[in-house]
Amino acid sequence: MLLLIPGPVTTRPEVRAALTHDFAPWDNDFRPLYLGIRTRLLRIAGGRPDEHVTLALQGCGHFVTEAAVRSFLPPGGKLLIPTTGAYSDRMIRLATEAGRQVIQLPIPQTAPTEPQVVAAALAADPTISHVGLVYSETGSGVIHDVVTVGAAVRAAGRRLIVDAVSAFGALPFDLSAQPEVDVVVFTSNKCLECVPGFGFAVARIDRLLACAGHAGSWSFDLADVYAHSLRTGGGSFRFTPPAQVLNAFNVALDLFDAEGGQPARLARYTENMRVLYDGAIGLGLVPYLPREAQGPVVVNIHAPSDPAWNLQAFVDALKARGVLISNFYNTPRPSFRVGCIGAITPADMARAVASMGEALRELGIQRREAA
Ligand SMILES: *Cc1c(COP(=O)(O)O)cnc(C)c1O
Repeated sequence: MLLLIPGPVTTRPEVRAALTHDFAPWDNDFRPLYLGIRTRLLRIAGGRPDEHVTLALQGCGHFVTEAAVRSFLPPGGKLLIPTTGAYSDRMIRLATEAGRQVIQLPIPQTAPTEPQVVAAALAADPTISHVGLVYSETGSGVIHDVVTVGAAVRAAGRRLIVDAVSAFGALPFDLSAQPEVDVVVFTSNKCLECVPGFGFAVARIDRLLACAGHAGSWSFDLADVYAHSLRTGGGSFRFTPPAQVLNAFNVALDLFDAEGGQPARLARYTENMRVLYDGAIGLGLVPYLPREAQGPVVVNIHAPSDPAWNLQAFVDALKARGVLISNFYNTPRPSFRVGCIGAITPADMARAVASMGEALRELGIQRREAA
């Protein structure tokens, strides 16, 4: 089955095979595995070993994003969030429920965040300490430029929290060039092509130390994760981790390196996206984004206007052909979404497009322009 949902993604057999090893997470065989992964992720993030540290949290992307917001903003602290789409909405909700003040910055969801708009919002309210930016907005498929928005945040003397959950490993990122970034968060199961189980944060050490005590949660306190790693030598977790996943993740990082790292992954995903985008147009469908705003991670396609259109029936017809896509809409106008990330190739994407054509015929969808 091709998982194009996107995340968890299709994984390679070598990654799944590595899940068969059991580990005791405090054992001397396990500690170097975790320490090695922390170093490898620091390198991918462009972190400096004396300035940045990799921390892992059990669970999903929302957990580590909430941990980042709680750990770097004090209770009642103020966070500006550009409303990029479904995932900025999630950051808004989790920050609000964590008792932080969220200032929403309304932006068009079909174009990248403009740095001058962020600069103006920060100038208007000096009590905003942080900006929370979704790097790759999985809701729309738009990539938001962390470098130019980061420069605006830095110029205003504020701090940046980056949700890179669907970006990290595929889109370039260099912490050493972005001192305004407190933390970047991501997971094991998107562009790094492992199974779910971990959220990761690469964070500034000075800021972790300065923000100790902010979280108001033991589970979601990155400063406490860091303090624990200092106490224990860094190879252990505070609470039981999915230890088998960490072994599989290490294999996934081997495959990442063997492929040629982030530039190679970006090139493959970009080609996947192109085959899908052009293929959808070839079927008479209408992509949600104009080509210039289309990122390489996820392509949304307008639901066809044909009265016979039914998303679940389409998903079922595709699934019968070995292709699984999301069965919900994530955009203001209904569009079905197809992931371009994971252990899949442009040839897989061409097969997915052919299956879409067959599924549309099976359902009798003649009118394919946007509903
Ligand atoms: C997948 C994703 C998340 C986190 O999702 P989880 O289901 O909690 O793992 C957060 N942000 C973005 C941009 C994502 O794509």
